[in-house]
Amino acid sequence: MTIGEFRRVDRHRPKTPRIAVIGAGIGGLGLAQGLARAGIDCEIFERDPAIDSRGQGYRLRIDATGQQALRECLPTALMSLFEQSCATAASGGRFLDTDLQPVASQMPGGRMPESWRDARARSTRPGDKIGDRAGDLRVHRQTLREILFCGLDRRVRFGKVFASAEAFLADDGRRRIRLGFTDGSSTRCDLIVAADGVNSAVRGNLLPVLQSRVQPVDTGTVCFFGRTHPHPGLTQPPADLLLDGSSVIFADGFTTIIDAMHFADQPDRLARHLLGGFAESCILSPAANYLYWAFIGPRATFGLRVDGVLPQEPSVIAELLRRRVRGWHPGLAAVFDATDLESLAVMPLRQAPLPSTWRTADRMALAGARTSGVTWLGDAIHAMSPAGGLGANTALADAADLSARLRDVARGETDLGVAISAYETEMLARAETALAASAAAASRLFGGRRSDGPGVD
Ligand SMILES: Cc1cc2nc3c(=O)[nH]c(=O)nc-3n(C[C@H](O)[C@H](O)[C@H](O)COP(=O)(O)OP(=O)(O)OC[C@H]3O[C@@H](n4cnc5c(N)ncnc54)[C@H](O)[C@@H]3O)c2cc1C
Repeated sequence: MTIGEFRRVDRHRPKTPRIAVIGAGIGGLGLAQGLARAGIDCEIFERDPAIDSRGQGYRLRIDATGQQALRECLPTALMSLFEQSCATAASGGRFLDTDLQPVASQMPGGRMPESWRDARARSTRPGDKIGDRAGDLRVHRQTLREILFCGLDRRVRFGKVFASAEAFLADDGRRRIRLGFTDGSSTRCDLIVAADGVNSAVRGNLLPVLQSRVQPVDTGTVCFFGRTHPHPGLTQPPADLLLDGSSVIFADGFTTIIDAMHFADQPDRLARHLLGGFAESCILSPAANYLYWAFIGPRATFGLRVDGVLPQEPSVIAELLRRRVRGWHPGLAAVFDATDLESLAVMPLRQAPLPSTWRTADRMALAGARTSGVTWLGDAIHAMSPAGGLGANTALADAADLSARLRDVARGETDLGVAISAYETEMLARAETALAASAAAASRLFGGRRSDGPGVD
């Protein structure tokens, strides 16, 4: 019996469904925290062998939406730990050209994406309170993931790669889903939440009809990113300003973002201080200060062919970037000369089509999956270019929204199907706005190409 056929015979939904979340990324863990706060249990199945087994990038900007979602999902002590572990800065940020001269980028037609807000200017003195301004916070991605993992160690099953889902009728007459993993193991649940990211296997397996509408497409742009540890070459003016807050460098046809990740205290020490006895269940890795940087622009700007394979070898990436920053202010070029080779990565920027472009058949496919007990959040359903800094924030908003609706189901205030349907309506509206903003941000960042700019050889 397929999942689609199954929904026609099910008449007995449990009040509190047994929930299986596929993917312990930002969205999946956010959801699990929101559910735990509402007193609802869930199991999370993650393909990685451990929470820290793989680097997944360096800094994330968490905007007002993401901060509100975290506030709704996390217990107060963990929210406080998140805020205190974010990077500190004396100023909100600046917009510069490649000679380190200020650029008036916030004027109409300027190149600052609409979705960006100044980073919160926060004192670098330990113990000082965070300001009230609803600016973006900058968090080390691994620290955020570890905070989101706190207290969930018994709920996350690592090394479990989703393979299949099949509906069946249980002995008590209830419709259930059998989840299969690539290691041959299986489990049963009533609701699957696909939070398995941009290459979602759940999507490929359960939504083949919708796949072409949801599968992110290559935008032809790329993001190079990495980190540099502060070094003496960066202490002379004007380059020393790069060591504080966010710097956005508008270059010829692409944009470079540099974020100084300066931490007032070590995450593990903060956890001990803020969580007291609970710190034992919250293991945070140390985080040394660093400069996070990313180049975002069309492939051609970096001398890469549209249909070519992206370089993976760190020394090749480093050489490519070195050529691209030739002629830049020496203090700025020094950031990329002294970069941590191990940290270098390049990825294609992919973006899912807007939900408003879906056909009726696509919406019916989503509704069919929903009726069968499958729903979606984050990049699994609406992956977007990181240019707008919105993907993780939108995944967190999905997580907060879904956990609140499942709490209402557990309280008996609404039916599971009604709750998931309302969630998906809201989630798709949120995705529409964020996808459009990300696309607009990407094109703003690549604007302003000058004919006299340095070429790529
Ligand atoms: C360079 C870069 C910078 C970015 N900066 C920002 C930013 O500043 N602000 C922002 O809001 N967003 C940013 N983003 C986007 C953000 O990283 C994503 O949108 C966000 O991580 C999506 O969260 P998610 O939970 O949906 O997916 P993910 O965080 O990707 O988590 C998916 C999880 O599912 C697991 N998984 C995958 N397949 C399976 C399977 N078959 N079985 C079991 N588990 C599986 C993965 O291992 C992973 O743990 C950035 C992205 C990049 C690449």
